[in-house]
Amino acid sequence: MKKAAKLELESFMNGLIKRNPGETEFHQAVEEFAATVIPYINENPVYLENYILERMTEPDRTIIFRVCWEDDSGTIRINRGYRVQFNNSIGPYKGGLRFHHSVNLSILKFLGFEQTFKNSLTTLPMGAGKGGADFNPKGKSEREIMRFCQSFMIELSKHIGQDIDVPAGDIGVGAREISYMFGQYKRLKNEFTGTLTGKALEFGGSLIRTEATGYGCVYFMEEMLKHRGDSIEGKTCLISGSGNVAQYAAQKIIQLGGKVIALSDSSGFIHDPKGLNEEKLQYVIDLKTKKRGRISEYADKFKSTFHAGKRPWTIKADLAFPCATQNEIELEDANHLIKNGIIAIAEGANMPTTNEAVEAFRKACLPFAPGKASNAGGVAVSGLEMTQNSIRLSWSREEMEERLKNIMSNIHQQCVNYGTEEKQVDYVKGANIAGFVKVAEAMVVYGAV
Ligand code: NAP
Repeated sequence: MKKAAKLELESFMNGLIKRNPGETEFHQAVEEFAATVIPYINENPVYLENYILERMTEPDRTIIFRVCWEDDSGTIRINRGYRVQFNNSIGPYKGGLRFHHSVNLSILKFLGFEQTFKNSLTTLPMGAGKGGADFNPKGKSEREIMRFCQSFMIELSKHIGQDIDVPAGDIGVGAREISYMFGQYKRLKNEFTGTLTGKALEFGGSLIRTEATGYGCVYFMEEMLKHRGDSIEGKTCLISGSGNVAQYAAQKIIQLGGKVIALSDSSGFIHDPKGLNEEKLQYVIDLKTKKRGRISEYADKFKSTFHAGKRPWTIKADLAFPCATQNEIELEDANHLIKNGIIAIAEGANMPTTNEAVEAFRKACLPFAPGKASNAGGVAVSGLEMTQNSIRLSWSREEMEERLKNIMSNIHQQCVNYGTEEKQVDYVKGANIAGFVKVAEAMVVYGAV
């Protein structure tokens, strides 16, 4: 095998940007990863000679298709559907579907790339993929959502399967959308298999899947604090978002004795200095999943303040959980948090923190958990849903929660093993290298494929 030259971040990124013009989110995710992994690759020539990083940053396959559907007025509507099958070195492609008007190839490639290392960290046999459509479910009727999901699945069904690619939910895709898509897949293929996860309990879903990402993120935070001899109990917490991840992060924080004082959505944030309790949280869950209302209604109901168009990061608190979307903590937000004495940050969303903001947390020596480690609980329980479907058994709630807790603790330990420097843990470095090694080892032994 020809000897390969050492990698250098700037020229690697220049090549990647040239091959993927305009895909800014994808560039950002790769740069954050490559900055910590390139020094490790340079010390391990087997990865250099096999061009592992170059191969890992090129998806196995990208599928783009037209989704044609009819709205309630009889008008034909057209959206763009995607599935990026990023890497199947350690298992079938696995990752969510996002329905949001902002969806484009760059966003799905960044999500698919991150998913590779997240799934590897769970230690379960799952490759990585991500997909979705630029369809906006807001304001659509039930029937319109159903017709869109069915049309989307007509094309997607040609590319997925329980041993090929197993999609799940993400932003804009919850239990309702998964049910419509699973119903259509079953009809088209005439088979009942675990090809989608996040299913309802009645037809193959797993207990704890709904709660898994939020719970897992809080378990990870608890592990980070435990590593420093501290805990969540009594800590004030800021959460962004009020969707699936945010809701169950809030629930677990309340159960562990923390105090959630902020939540948000795309229109602004609410500040409730008294903190949420189970009753207030149930209101939020009903508001967002049944009524599909706005978080501002919480402020009216519970006499707290609503800050239109703003993010919660200017409020003084101990812990921060960004759980809404990408790039919602920018450098200025990070500086506010640091100035106000934040103790630790755990990402519930995917890449909610810009690279500049991550660097600010690193300089301030704050424990910062990247999403690929701290939000891996969702896909981990999806992996366990696949196992339960295969063996045609359902595990109990207690058993599932215990498994989730163990997986998050194990991910934390992997980050500590690969990321400890002078007694400090660099969780970004730890997660990136630990996630990389398992996939890279498989790619090496497969040869040049
Ligand atoms: P969700 O239920 O659809 O909730 C998304 C939340 O984020 C909503 O409160 C939404 O507000 C808010 N949001 C969306 N776009 C926004 C924007 N541009 N600015 C401000 N707020 C915005 O989605 P989710 O499942 O909780 O996912 C949230 C994040 O977690 C995403 O990054 C996702 O990739 C990541 N994640 C999810 C899972 C999972 O199991 N669900 C697993 C791993 C990672 P509106 O209500 O106003 O739209």
